[in-house]
Order: sequence, then C-alpha cells, then structure tokens
Amino acid sequence: MNRLLIIGCGGVASVAIHKCCQNSEVFKEIMIASRTVSKCDALKAKLEGKTATKISTAKVDADNVDELVALIESYKPDAVLNLALPYQDLTIMDACLKTGVHYIDTANYEAEDTEDPAWRAIYEERCERLGFTAYFDYSWQWAYEEKFKEAGLTALLGTGFDPGVTSVFAAYAKKHYFDTIDTIDILDCNGGDHGYPFATNFNPEINLREVSAPGSYFENGKWVEIPAMSIKREYNFEGVGMKDMYLLHHEEIEALARNMPEVKRIRFFMTFGQSYLTHMKCLENVGLLRTDAIEFNGQQIVPIQFLKALLPDPASLGPRTVGKTNIGCIFTGKKDGKERKIYIYNVCDHQECYKEVESQAISYTTGVPAMIGAMMVLNGDWLKPGVFTTDEFDPDPYMDALNKWGLPWVVDENPVLVD
Ligand code: NDP
Repeated sequence: MNRLLIIGCGGVASVAIHKCCQNSEVFKEIMIASRTVSKCDALKAKLEGKTATKISTAKVDADNVDELVALIESYKPDAVLNLALPYQDLTIMDACLKTGVHYIDTANYEAEDTEDPAWRAIYEERCERLGFTAYFDYSWQWAYEEKFKEAGLTALLGTGFDPGVTSVFAAYAKKHYFDTIDTIDILDCNGGDHGYPFATNFNPEINLREVSAPGSYFENGKWVEIPAMSIKREYNFEGVGMKDMYLLHHEEIEALARNMPEVKRIRFFMTFGQSYLTHMKCLENVGLLRTDAIEFNGQQIVPIQFLKALLPDPASLGPRTVGKTNIGCIFTGKKDGKERKIYIYNVCDHQECYKEVESQAISYTTGVPAMIGAMMVLNGDWLKPGVFTTDEFDPDPYMDALNKWGLPWVVDENPVLVD
C-alpha cells in the first residue's frame, strides 16, 4: 500500500505533507484535497521536483459524504489521512467505509453546531453519565468499531502529538518499564514566543474551545471536573525552563482510562503565560468565544469564527516563533515489586522546524506523527480491523520512527514529579 489521500491543507497538513515527501519509499503517491484547492496547488508547486512522491490535488468539501466518496473512487487511495478539522471526522469515516479504505486522524470528533438539539440530547446524557462536559469525546468514533471490523478496515484515531505520541509513550512505558502503571501526568509545554500580543498555535476555533472549557482528570475510575484553569502547577522543563501550567481536559485521558484501567490517576497539563490567559478571559467575557450564531447587520455570524478571521493564521507564525516545546508524560508505578518513575519527552525547536519545513513546532509536532501514523497503516505495522487509538498497538516501530523522522525522545529515569 503506498497511495494516500490527505484531506486538509492547513498548518498540520503542510508538515505532514512535507514529511510524506521526505519518505517517498512509503508514500509513493499522495493527493492533497481541501476546500481551498489553491492552497493545495501552492504546496504541490513548492514540493514538486524535490521529491520522488507523485503529488496530485483536488477540491473537496469534507462535510459532504458523496463528494468524498466520488473523490476516493476516482483516486483510489489505500488510506485517507484526515487533517481537516474534528468536525469532519464522521463524514470522512463514513466515506472510508463506503469505499473500503483505511482511515487516520489526529483529533476526535467534535460537533460544529453545539446548539443542534439532536446532538445536545446525546451530549447532555454523556455529561451526566461520565461526568465531563467537553464538547469532544471518543464515543462518536468508537461507535464505528463494528462497522470497521466487519469491513476489515483500520481506523487509527488521534495520531498527533497529544493525543498520539503521548499515548504511544504510555504503551512504551507499559511494555518496557512497568508491570503496573499507577499514575500518568501528560505535560505539554510551549516555550515559544511569536512576538504577537495574542495568537493561537493551531486552529484558533479548536484551540480556544479546548482551553476555555472546564478542566478534568481521571481518578480511581471516575472523572473529576474543575473550573477552567483552576489547578495550576509550576514545572522546570528541560530545554525551556520554569513555566506555569494548568490542568485541562484532554482527549487521550479518555482513551488511556479505557485501555489501561489499572492506572489510578491520569492528568493533563498545558503551559500558558499570564498574558495569554488575560487575553482569553477578556475575549470570553465580551462574548467572542461563543460558538452559537448571533445576528449582526442582518447576517448570522458565529463570534469565535469571526475572532479566527482577526487572529494571525497559525501557519504564518513559523518565521517569527523562537524557543522550544517540551511535551511528554511522567509515569509512576511498579516494576518487579519496586516503585518506579520515568519521564518520556521530546524537545522540539521552533526555528529548526521552520528551517526544515517552514512551520513552527506546534504544527511540526503534530504533522510528523500524522505522517508516522499513516506510515504504520500503509506499511502494515499497525493494521487490524476496528477503531483504535495509538496506545493499542506495538509502540516500538512508532517510537523508532519518531527518532528517525524528527521527534527524538528521551527517557529520564529520575524525574521531578508534579504534586
Ligand atoms: P488549520 O485550520 O490550519 O487547517 C485546517 C484545514 O482543513 C484547512 O486546510 C481547511 O481548508 C481544511 N478544511 C476545513 N474544513 C474543511 C472541509 N469541510 N472540507 C475540506 N477541508 C476542510 O488547522 P490545523 O492544521 O491547525 O489543524 C488540523 C487538525 O489537527 C485539527 O483537527 C486539529 O484539531 C488537529 N490537531 C491535533 C493536534 C494533536 O496533537 N493531536 C495538535 C494540533 C492540531 P480551508 O483553508 O479551505 O478552510
């Protein structure tokens, strides 16, 4: 298998496409398809002549299953890599099932219209039953398990950095370092500075919806939800230094809690500077983070979508961003009856990423694992019928690929723990 259809041509897709083109032995042919085909054509023009990968482009509206099916039937890919938005996950999965191709993405399904009564009824029942109120969760995509199994197809969910690499780190820790894991703390630190008063590092709508929502963590078999940004810790990150970090809800917690039920506590922390938080609070207070449509001058507008149009395009941050990211997981548990703790992390330099693929490290740390996940499926290392997250396969070939393709990792066997 060596033919991949990539949907979306934004910040993450651009990196994944650069990496596929560096890896032409696996990715012999790719098609880049998005709403704005001129972006796909521009990227193709930039890469052609520098790679043995054959690139084609197409226009597609990934909200439309029939359009997707027609495109897949004409291009005949072995797999589809969804790098559009989480809103398109289900339509693309439906199209993959109809056409018999494998499916890969980096973020779990989220409804675009959170006021839709049919969606809301299911959402509210889930909030009640599980105890977390995030708009995104795995239930929608896990519901495709039987369909993918029956079709003999693989759906690989969430192969970005977090989720994605962080869950591979968990599988690797379990395989090589622990008999049982007791706690997992996932730490996402961005020490980068882009020089703007306020900008988001990936799609602003998805990013701001995520960080302005209540935080939550999983403890002793239950979700504990807290007000947004109400648990703060400090941590000294290798390559970055001391940073404030805040507990957020994050999607890999849900998958790890299901797949590693022995783990007693799973938390996720992300670093934010005070200026970012002040801007966000202000935007929230004036209503610009609202996701429901309002009437303005006779037109319906969604405030958060209007805000996105005002903010810098994340893809444009690359040349301006300096500093490093450090993302990883601290595990505690037992091996041969003894207590053990380890920290597996990657440090990535924004400017190095820019030199290599003209993107900042946030897109880079997501786009590289997206390419690796697609490679795992195409080369057969991670191929089994059903719907899976990245912790459900052998982590070793993926960990090797991280070292080879630009995200080398470190195991610290004596880390400072987060209290
Ligand atoms: P961008 O906004 O930069 O890019 C999104 C792309 O999707 C654009 O090319 C856009 O096209 C395209 N698109 C949107 N809607 C449609 C549609 N209906 N049909 C076809 N194409 C569409 O986003 P990012 O690159 O920052 O993020 C991409 C994905 O990566 C998101 O799902 C995000 O949640 C995920 N992500 C995952 C991370 C992880 O670590 N797991 C971290 C960061 C991001 P157009 O420009 O024409 O609108």
